Amino acid sequence: MTALLEVEDLRVAYGKIEAVKGISFTANQGEVTTLIGTNGAGKTTTLRTISGLLRPTGGSITFDGQALHAVPAHRIVSLGLAHSPEGRHIFPRMTIEENLLLGAFLRRDPAGVTEDVERAYTLFPILGERRRQAAGTLSGGEQQMLAMGRALMSRPKLLMLDEPSMGLSPLMMQKITATIVELKAAGTTILLVEQNAQAALSLSDHGYVMETGRIVLTGTGADLLHDESVRKAYLGED
Ligand code: ATP
Repeated sequence: MTALLEVEDLRVAYGKIEAVKGISFTANQGEVTTLIGTNGAGKTTTLRTISGLLRPTGGSITFDGQALHAVPAHRIVSLGLAHSPEGRHIFPRMTIEENLLLGAFLRRDPAGVTEDVERAYTLFPILGERRRQAAGTLSGGEQQMLAMGRALMSRPKLLMLDEPSMGLSPLMMQKITATIVELKAAGTTILLVEQNAQAALSLSDHGYVMETGRIVLTGTGADLLHDESVRKAYLGED
């Protein structure tokens, strides 16, 4: 397996408070890798650091053979890394289509961009039906689809999804899960952050369990799903 992303001994602090305390993990080419953990474990901080939005206080991040620590956030997208953030961050007054096009702002191939907008509408038909409406009129789940669609518009090698299931109905969650499986089949490498461990681990090749800034357990998705401590802590079993 080739590692597309390699994180080594990563440390991130907010002032004096260290939120990520020396974690190491990899996301292999063509696989789905998941970080699970409860509120405040440091998952979002980790993704924001990989994206260049936060600076690490220690350790290294290597993406596609290149060290990321000196690369500014806007350049990181052009290397092939896209981030669909927690809380979605869509632009509510802009149309759905304008939001999608923002994800392609670095591209200089209009024909390819048009093709990918259509691909997003095939993946999420509701977005196509409402393409000229303000994005703020979408439901939470639909906004999540838009955030994913927008992240895909840069044709990323690595797609990072922060809690895509948050606040979604079971039906919407199934749709998002199916989309992740579809994206993986099309060759996209995915790094997923989730509190909803059951759904995430069942579609993951590898998983890492984070607790208060550290990785405390790792294994295949199936291993972790069957692990007793994971079942107790994350799947609500006694
Ligand atoms: P959640 O699922 O709730 O987002 P998480 O695992 O993603 O949890 P983080 O958001 O990365 O966790 O937070 C890790 C720790 O860092 C928490 O203790 C949090 O309170 C703290 N933290 C996060 N953002 C900031 C900030 N801007 N300033 C100070 N502390 C922060």
